[in-house]
Amino acid sequence: MIITQSSPMLCDNLSRTAEGELTFAGQPLCALAAQYGTPLYLYDEARIRERCRTYLGAVRDTFGARGRVLYASKAASFRRLYEIMKEEGMGIDVVSCGEIYTAARADFALENAYFHSNNKTDADIAYAMEHGVGYFVVDNEEELYAIERIAGERDLRQKILLRLTPGIDPHTYAAVATGKVDSKFGSAIETGQAEAITDIALSLPHVDLRGYHCHVGSQVFDTDVYLRTSEVMLTFIAHIASTRGYLADELDIGGGWGVRYTEEQPTIDIARGIAEVGAHMKALAASLGIPLPIIAFEPGRSIVADAGLTLYTVGTVKRIPGYKTYVSVDGGMTDNPRFALYGSPYTILPVLGGEVPSDAERCSVVGRCCESGDILQENVPLPPMHRGDLLACLTTGAYHYSMASNYNRIPRPPVVMLKDGTSYLAVRRETPEDLTALEV
Ligand SMILES: *Cc1c(COP(=O)(O)O)cnc(C)c1O
Repeated sequence: MIITQSSPMLCDNLSRTAEGELTFAGQPLCALAAQYGTPLYLYDEARIRERCRTYLGAVRDTFGARGRVLYASKAASFRRLYEIMKEEGMGIDVVSCGEIYTAARADFALENAYFHSNNKTDADIAYAMEHGVGYFVVDNEEELYAIERIAGERDLRQKILLRLTPGIDPHTYAAVATGKVDSKFGSAIETGQAEAITDIALSLPHVDLRGYHCHVGSQVFDTDVYLRTSEVMLTFIAHIASTRGYLADELDIGGGWGVRYTEEQPTIDIARGIAEVGAHMKALAASLGIPLPIIAFEPGRSIVADAGLTLYTVGTVKRIPGYKTYVSVDGGMTDNPRFALYGSPYTILPVLGGEVPSDAERCSVVGRCCESGDILQENVPLPPMHRGDLLACLTTGAYHYSMASNYNRIPRPPVVMLKDGTSYLAVRRETPEDLTALEV
């Protein structure tokens, strides 16, 4: 486990003014709430760029030109973010035509895009080929044959990686664990399906097998998970090289590096983690007698999570004597479904009033949807809250805007970027008119 010193606040881009007002990326939050309204998604642009540079620098130091970093854009996907990825020299993962289109609108060079998904339709495959998506990460045999057929119709040879399940249990939430043999994703090594799909890929004229991919899960704090995964994958590559004479040139070991949502969770030193995984891979490749393939990492959450913060305004405060206190905010599971889906922990702080005393009342912070499960967090220590007060939910840059919905016909919040003491709109607030715009 690799942990850096924990900062006095949850993330080092948070602070409080002398008067006790919370700041994010150096900017006091009340003025931003007044300017843009709430609920409001804020992003610290410098933090996003810093995280990209940390990954790219570590990968360059460890693997030289044979390393890649792909931003898993399902974590947060909007045009401005792809522009930043382009400027930073990142590759990207995409999982749908919508993400491909959005990246194309940012003039992102799609030859540096990797197309995931366990169920790509024929239309998805054709769309991605039309847009020149560089790599398909192929989940299963059926998809492989569809790619062969559609690439054949277009007279092209499509570069692919095969997604394998290495049989690693990352000890994370079941809903975000993907590397186990019974996963819905990929072809399992253990069952022989990984070898079988390799043989098929090698036999298809319009498919250019470049190597393998795996992704074992998300919110992983233990580097050992990646060490074990590397072992399984490199051993498989060596086995295929000796039995088929096919040497994979690329190994993508997925994303999943953990992020600190609460004080109890550690902070991962990404650069050290990559160096450690890299050293292990080099030793393994040498002992297996194979050259080290190009190594790709696909971080999503750890690029954007702590670059994000959501601001809410408190509405109804309901005290049920002898039971609990509900503090309702003007957002909820529509802008953050992660507590409802996974019971995910979050840190929620009042914007004004300074540090929360340790004996503060524990409240349930809930949303405005007609749904009892519309909860943002339980047991949040808060000073007495009143209608109109502001609350900040921290670490909301990943899987919030991208998972937001219009349940109850609630328009989605805007996305505002903070940069060098100023702010600008990346995505405007949805309006009720937007919600009916599709109706004919
Ligand atoms: C979700 C996903 C990622 C990113 O995971 P994070 O936990 O956000 O880093 C990377 N690769 C694949 C294939 C994924 O599905």
